[in-house]
Amino acid sequence: MAELERKYEVEIKEREGRQKLPDNVKEELKASGMMDDKGKLKLKGVSPKMLKRMKQEYVDCPVLKEDTHFIQCFVCPNFQSRVMGKVFCKGDPLK
Ligand code: SF4
Repeated sequence: MAELERKYEVEIKEREGRQKLPDNVKEELKASGMMDDKGKLKLKGVSPKMLKRMKQEYVDCPVLKEDTHFIQCFVCPNFQSRVMGKVFCKGDPLK
């Protein structure tokens, strides 16, 4: 199988407690049906336990050049997969 083309392997970090998702990200999630009106996330194939963990995680995004909530990263067009604590990121410029 051909390897996915990717530019970065980004380490996933964790912090205590929940982090807030930026409002524009929330709007995008709602628009694409991944968040309901109450702000509850509905990600396909992600168990509640996994979701809880994801809410504490972030990446130092090499494209946005800032700490980015893992949920935001997970739904990012550059996200390819998550392997052994790392995100495989396509690294294309984001709008
Ligand atoms: S997938 Fe998106 S958010 Fe995640 S590291 Fe790559 S560019 Fe940043």
